[in-house]
Amino acid sequence: MNKWIWAALIGAAIVIGGTYMVVTGNSDTGTSSADSGEVPASTEVQGQETDKPAQADGSTDGVKADGEKPDQSAAEESGKPDSASGQQQDSKPADTKPNTDSGNSGSGTSANEGDAVVTAAQPNRVTVLVNKSHRLPAGYEPDDLVYPDVPFIFSEKSDKRKMRREAADALKLLFDAAKKDGIELAGVSGYRSEARQKTLFNNYVERDGLEQASRYSARPGFSEHQTGLAMDVSGKAGKCAAEDCFAGTDEANWLADHAYEYGFIIRYPENKEQVTGYKYEAWHLRYVGTDTAAAIQTAGLTLEEYTEQQ
Ligand SMILES: [Zn+2]
Repeated sequence: MNKWIWAALIGAAIVIGGTYMVVTGNSDTGTSSADSGEVPASTEVQGQETDKPAQADGSTDGVKADGEKPDQSAAEESGKPDSASGQQQDSKPADTKPNTDSGNSGSGTSANEGDAVVTAAQPNRVTVLVNKSHRLPAGYEPDDLVYPDVPFIFSEKSDKRKMRREAADALKLLFDAAKKDGIELAGVSGYRSEARQKTLFNNYVERDGLEQASRYSARPGFSEHQTGLAMDVSGKAGKCAAEDCFAGTDEANWLADHAYEYGFIIRYPENKEQVTGYKYEAWHLRYVGTDTAAAIQTAGLTLEEYTEQQ
């Protein structure tokens, strides 16, 4: 007897429960779970930018902006994504705050993403300007890339060791001079093809979204590493390679004082994000030739500012 009653009650419960589930299920599915994870998230991200343009100026938290975020490979290999993601909060609201500068409507060397894009007419010049609004011709590839005869923090002989011949020779002189002063440097990341940059950038966009990725990684065609004139460097041990903590090290200080003597500049100086489009990167060296490097060093300019004066 009891069994039958129980069976009947359970049966009824199942029918009612089932019906209920069908009803509620229908009404819920469309709205909840599926999108909720993403929609709010992306809304937030965008909100951040528009809401706090102020940050654009001040914030100096570091992040590797390096238009190309240095050595992915080292990061990739270590499984560490590239720390950039988490911290960067970059600043530069690229488009919201276009022109701080002094009405340079003409030449427009600024690096704001919102600006019209200029394609380098002479991409082979060692002083070529490449930033968020100045790109290289599509598919540009230097024809004199060589392997600099300097140590790297990795052992494989990949393209990222390469630089254009003149820059590679100068890098060798720079490293030798540093060594004489007791500073042992190592290369981290040099040449990067447009295709490689595309892969990297797309990976970042996939991981962090376009807005965030653009703050620390350059779009393909807009990376200074594609010129074959840039090299990210670190100390011999690779500690803080392409990381904010490289700033202030003996190696970074030595480079800040002497790189220009060999034709290199610290391309993304501290407190110049508004001009260069990137945060301070003590490790990113750009070859421009000794005369230009000396002029830039002496006047405390960025390549953007220097170019504008020419
Ligand atoms: Zn770099």
